[in-house]
Parts: sequence; structure tokens; C-alpha cells
Amino acid sequence: IKNEGGNSFGFYSMESSVAWTRDRLKLEKELRIALNSGHLQVLYQPIVDVYQQNIVRMEALVRWPHPTRGYLSPSEFIPLAESIGLMEQLGKEVLKIACLAAHKLIQIGKPIHVSVNVHPHQLLHGNFLPALSRVLTETGLPATSLTLEITESAVVSDMARASVILQQIKTLGALIALDDFGTGYSSLTLLRELPIDILKIDKSFIRALDQNINDLTITQAIIGLGVNLGLMIVAEGVESDRQARILLENHCYLQQGYFFSRPVPYESILQLVNEADLSNLASIKQLCAIV
Ligand code: C2E
Ligand code: MG
Ligand code: MG
Ligand code: MG
Repeated sequence: IKNEGGNSFGFYSMESSVAWTRDRLKLEKELRIALNSGHLQVLYQPIVDVYQQNIVRMEALVRWPHPTRGYLSPSEFIPLAESIGLMEQLGKEVLKIACLAAHKLIQIGKPIHVSVNVHPHQLLHGNFLPALSRVLTETGLPATSLTLEITESAVVSDMARASVILQQIKTLGALIALDDFGTGYSSLTLLRELPIDILKIDKSFIRALDQNINDLTITQAIIGLGVNLGLMIVAEGVESDRQARILLENHCYLQQGYFFSRPVPYESILQLVNEADLSNLASIKQLCAIV
């Protein structure tokens, strides 16, 4: 009866389970090699200030161009990196590449803040602070141009420790963003306990913003909460002008999503920030006409 499900674990044949293990070992080895030989890539997605009509930040997002499997996204290899203890190294690598990119932009007179995602293991179990200081020194990026994006899962397991580490990061001058805000279980506790600077409204609330009154109400409440706490608010996953417009009407000016740009290589970010009128960033001028 359960056979219809096909691949449920109990029905794996010995052969396919061996094949699975072999595939996985191969992938682990390939990931190690890719990481050690600098083959992981970092893309950047602009975060736009819709009101000012410019790119003010960019988020670094890692990719693995796999020789046979194509471009792999983080959800396809970060769990793997985590399970084989590579997460710290991977995280450091991304941080370094992203800080170098942001520093280059400063040098050409286009200072753009860079946001880098930090994995729970990296933040809590590694030697994060010295590693971060070293990267900042090596790349020359002022800490004040860096934001670290953390998720609730990164901090709930050990709030006391997380709080200390985040305070130290703040002392260096970097900012802290709480990513995927609203999807966790104790988001409000985190806001009270931790030195957060930026709230990123999770894309699951933005997706149906123009159709679902509950999503709109929740989004408005998050914006209100953030504003009253003196935080910056970023909406992620903005895919349409309707979503962008609704956010703008509700005073959420920092927006990120495919509507403005997909994550792109550094060279393309360079192009985007050099465009005098941001004509590539869809019709944000039009949007601004309404405020
Ligand atoms: P995140 O930090 O919440 O990043 C936003 C994700 O949403 C990215 O997926 C981005 O490509 C995607 N996105 C951006 N705009 C839109 C949109 O308009 N619509 C939709 N549907 N999606 C959009 P990506 O790059 O696949 O990354 C997924 C997650 O993997 C990230 O979520 C982050 O948690 C993690 N991640 C990515 N890069 C790194 C990294 O270097 N280190 C660590 N630790 N985690 C990373
Ligand atoms: Mg993020
Ligand atoms: Mg997010
Ligand atoms: Mg996420």
C-alpha cells in the first residue's frame, strides 16, 4: 500500500542505497576540492532604496558551479558542507570574497554596504570574531560597511552566547540583520534580547502581499514594529511592481527581489551601480511618483 510513495526510505534496495552513498561521497569530495581551489562563486543581489532610487546595499549569495550538475544553489550544498564540517571554511571564503568586492566598490567611489549570511555553526561554534577581524584587516573593508545576516535558528540554541558574540561584532562596527523575520518561533524575544539593526521581512509574507489581507496585515505590523524600535526594514522577495508599490505605500523603502535584479556577478553589480538612472531596475521612478 505504501509502495505508491516509491522512494520512501524503507523501500530502498541495497543497490540504490549503495549508489546513494557513493554519489554523496563523490559530491563531498568535489565540494572540498571546489572550496580549496577557489571554485565557489559569490553573486550579489542589489538592495534598492526605492525612495532614493539607488542601490544602497548588496547581499552576497554563494553558488557552486558544478562541473556536471550545473549551478548548485546553497540549499543544495550548504547542508552537505555543514555535515562534513566545511561550513566554517566556506563561510570565511564567502566573507572574504564579499568584503573584497565591497572594498573595490568603495575605491571606485561607489560605496555600497555588503550583507553576508552567517551560518549558525560559523557564528556559535567557530572562532568567528578573530576570523572576522582578520578578513576585515586583509581586505581593508571598514567594518561599518558590513552587515552580517543571521537567522533565528542561529541564535536560539544558545541565546546567551549569541548575544555576547553579536555585541562583539557590533563593537567592531558591523551591523546585524535578522534574516527571514517572522518565520521563527521566538522572533520577538530575539528583538528584545539581541542587538539587531535590520529586520528582513521574509519573502513568504511578500509573495501574496497583493492578494492576501493577512499577509498584508502582518507585513504592516512588522514594518511598524521595526520603525518604532528604530530598525531598518528590508523586504525580500519583491517580484512585482504591485508588491513594491504596496511596500512603498507602507513606508518600507529598502527592497530586494527579482523585480529589481536577480543575484548577479560582481561585474554586473558594477554595471548596475554605474548606470546613472538605474533604468535596469525596472520602473522604480514610476513607483516613486506615488510618494
Ligand atoms: P536568504 O539569505 O534569505 O537569501 C535570499 C534568497 O532569496 C536567495 O536565495 C535569493 O536568490 C532569493 N531571492 C532573491 N530575490 C527573490 C525573489 O524575488 N523571489 C524569490 N522567490 N527568491 C528570491 P539563494 O541564493 O538560493 O539562497 C538561499 C539561502 O541560502 C539564503 O537565504 C541563505 O540563508 C543561504 N545562503 C546563501 N548564501 C549563503 C552563504 O554564503 N552563507 C550562508 N551561511 N548561507 C547562505
Ligand atoms: Mg540573507
Ligand atoms: Mg531571507
Ligand atoms: Mg533564508
